[in-house]
Amino acid sequence: MIHARAYSLRTAVLGFVLAPLLVVILAAGWSGLRTLEAGMEARMEQDIELVARSIHLPLREAMAQGQRGDIQQALDSAFRIDQVYGAYVYDENGELVAASGPRSPSMDRRREAREATVTGTHGAYDDRDGEELYSFFMPLIDVGGRIRGLLQVTRQGSDFHADLARVRFRALVALGTVTLLLVAVVVVGHHRAVGRHVDRLAAAMVRVGRGERDLRVSGRGPRELQELARALNRMLEDMQRSATELEARRAEQVALRERLRQSEKLAAIGRLAAGVAHELGTPLGVVDGQAQRALRHVEPQSPPQRALVKIRREVARMDGIVRQLMDFGRHNPLRKRPEALGRLIQAAVAQVRADLEQSGTRLEGEDAPPGPVIPMDRARLEQALVNLLRNAVQATPGGRVRLSWREREDRVLELRVEDDGPGIDPDHRNRLFEPFFTTKSVGQGTGLGLSVAHGAVTEHGGEISVEDSPLGGACFVLEIPMDPA
Ligand code: ADP
Repeated sequence: MIHARAYSLRTAVLGFVLAPLLVVILAAGWSGLRTLEAGMEARMEQDIELVARSIHLPLREAMAQGQRGDIQQALDSAFRIDQVYGAYVYDENGELVAASGPRSPSMDRRREAREATVTGTHGAYDDRDGEELYSFFMPLIDVGGRIRGLLQVTRQGSDFHADLARVRFRALVALGTVTLLLVAVVVVGHHRAVGRHVDRLAAAMVRVGRGERDLRVSGRGPRELQELARALNRMLEDMQRSATELEARRAEQVALRERLRQSEKLAAIGRLAAGVAHELGTPLGVVDGQAQRALRHVEPQSPPQRALVKIRREVARMDGIVRQLMDFGRHNPLRKRPEALGRLIQAAVAQVRADLEQSGTRLEGEDAPPGPVIPMDRARLEQALVNLLRNAVQATPGGRVRLSWREREDRVLELRVEDDGPGIDPDHRNRLFEPFFTTKSVGQGTGLGLSVAHGAVTEHGGEISVEDSPLGGACFVLEIPMDPA
């Protein structure tokens, strides 16, 4: 689940890398600007001080000799310099002696001038009518070391400030440009180096989450992300493999459960059938015995005689069904002995010989060589084979039935009984081996033949299945392990 306060990778890079970087740049810029400003201010102050010093000697002379004209001239020469706003000379009492430029803004009062005289050479900022002025004061000292007066040279603060504002503006523009450039570089760089690859991985994860389990991500980009993509692919493969395994296991379980259910059903039906057959055997024997005895006492070719013969024929048929039921329900342990396959085939064919001859059906493959010797309960397998052969003959009266076998490499004996009859209706395929499933009319089939065959083969550890025969009809395949456990 994505946390509500989650932020993007780009935001993280901007926040954790670029923001501190910008703070550092800002701090460095600000400190540089301060130094620059301080330097500029100092240089401007020095300029004024230089002007003051250059006129201070002639002024001192003129003051000593009391030549006001010279004083004014010296001041005027200073005033002509661009940076100078005004130049003023005061006597030792603080009285203004001469001035060049606008009236002295600060030294109107004598006391202030005197104080300035005593403090010696110094600079001072002064606010007059909302305008800042910088003044440089320099005492005018005569040869004897006595202070004769004071020189004041001023400069307009706006001069500095305009310059400083210009510098600040340029610095800010430079800083803004650098910031924008850095943001652009980081955003584009992040996208090209990491972002697009991470986006691709994230998009792939979203699609996988939606169920596209076959999806694989391509491993492009930096090594770490390539490794991540590879790990992701491995994980997806593992997930897919385990999902497939799980699915297969589930299907196997379902099939197993179905087989179990089927065999339990068969066992129950088998017990019931065997019980019923057992109970019917004795009365049928009695009916047949009585009919046989009664026959001796009736006229040949008389109606009672014909009725008794009919009774005996029907009893024989019922006896056959009872025997089949007993076969089906019999779950005696297998009595296995090594037997040659050839003998099994011969015995089974012998049992259907009459059916073959009666229907005129041709059997191919009965004269096969003796074949391998395998452990088997011959009676059970013989019954299975007889049932299959009989079904085949019934499916194609007058047609072809083929019996064949081969030893497979996996040590399984494969026996095939096929015919050129109509084949198996696809709708019936699943139910073919169910007991009592028959498509034959009453009296023709009991639906037990294939169940009996199925039981015999599976008890031998083998399998029975049906497929289409190249002859055109059905092909029943028995697979019997040659080395049973
Ligand atoms: P029954 O033969 O008594 O009907 P089976 O269990 O032997 O019982 O056979 C079940 C059904 O399988 C038959 O009714 C028939 O529809 C079908 N069947 C069996 N063998 C063949 C075959 N060789 N060709 C076509 N259908 C067959």
